[in-house]
Amino acid sequence: MLISNKLTNGSIEQRFERLKECEACKTIIPRDSQFCPSCGVNLLDISVCEYCGHKNKVDATVCENCNGLIK
Ligand SMILES: [Zn+2]
Ligand SMILES: [Zn+2]
Repeated sequence: MLISNKLTNGSIEQRFERLKECEACKTIIPRDSQFCPSCGVNLLDISVCEYCGHKNKVDATVCENCNGLIK
């Protein structure tokens, strides 16, 4: 137990830099994740609308929620 506590405390900052937010559910997940462990979304497969935040398919050109153009 003592050993694992040490390891955890020593690597918090390093670990934080390797994290990102899931576009879909905002869970903090490892930066190199392809799938969100929380909601299961394929992060390479969604495109978030910059106007309303709606999650569209990655090949969508127009947001299906607000009809905003997706870059
Ligand atoms: Zn998620
Ligand atoms: Zn939208």
